[in-house]
Amino acid sequence: MPSASKYSVCALDCPDACSLLIDVEDGRGSRLRGNPTHPVTRGFLCGKVAKYLDREYSPDRLLYPQRRQMSPRVRVFIDWLSREFARHPEGSLAEQS
Ligand code: SF4
Repeated sequence: MPSASKYSVCALDCPDACSLLIDVEDGRGSRLRGNPTHPVTRGFLCGKVAKYLDREYSPDRLLYPQRRQMSPRVRVFIDWLSREFARHPEGSLAEQS
């Protein structure tokens, strides 16, 4: 039994802007579905977003910026990234690695 159901909208860059209904348990989304009461999208949710919670809570999800400097990748911090971008405004960091 969810502790709450929250309305939201798909945040992907797609013109449909599907309305979402998300069950929340202990602060985590437990079920995601299209909002069946929305007059336009009427419960529709494409296959890409239907599995969104699996990606959101996947242990493989990247939570921080990382640099492919060596294996394994190393975590980098925003301050470092800002300095590197300032030092190399003409090229991407990928070209520097
Ligand atoms: S759920 Fe799918 S179809 Fe709906 S707005 Fe998001 S990406 Fe577009």
